[in-house]
Amino acid sequence: MQELKNCRKCGLAHTRTQVVPGTGAEDARIMFTAEAPGKQEDRLGVGFSGSAGKIFDEILAHLGLTRDVIWLNNAVRCRPTDTGAKNRAPHPSEIAACRPWLEQDLRRVQPEIMVTLGRTAFFSVTGEVNFTQFRGKLYPATVPLFPLAHPAYLIYRKTAVNEYRQDLEQLRQLLLKRNIPLLPPLPSRFMG
Ligand code: SF4
Repeated sequence: MQELKNCRKCGLAHTRTQVVPGTGAEDARIMFTAEAPGKQEDRLGVGFSGSAGKIFDEILAHLGLTRDVIWLNNAVRCRPTDTGAKNRAPHPSEIAACRPWLEQDLRRVQPEIMVTLGRTAFFSVTGEVNFTQFRGKLYPATVPLFPLAHPAYLIYRKTAVNEYRQDLEQLRQLLLKRNIPLLPPLPSRFMG
């Protein structure tokens, strides 16, 4: 953990406030991987702590999960920004530099299924650029992977809720088939 906190393997080490490590249950059966920390996460050192984090918690509740039974991390552990004010997507070189930390999480947690959140997270893990073709269904990989859109998508694209709800239903059925314990799904502001 100290090694990660001191990591300077890419240029994002110069602009970050702090590294945002993965969190959750070390024996989690599901790993959620997002793109990279934003401004709020960089300040607090906790993944998904901004407004997208509230939606993420609602998505988990809709699936019947909570943060304490999953592992949550980012493909890139430091906030990508050029100006300090705005977030940007991580560059491929930053994704590649940070890859060993993702692999370390996979070795340590050994999840049965990985859920990527957003186009960039999916690309970071698989190298696939065609997110639309693969979202909402199981993608074959060493650790089977289920690509979801980024939770912030629901803030900007209200019309996407139905599609997102269908993807979550697919994922919930998949988790049930694997006998992963789920709570009854909770309705949410975003998912209905
Ligand atoms: S983004 Fe990853 S590789 Fe780059 S400095 Fe941060 S922890 Fe290290």
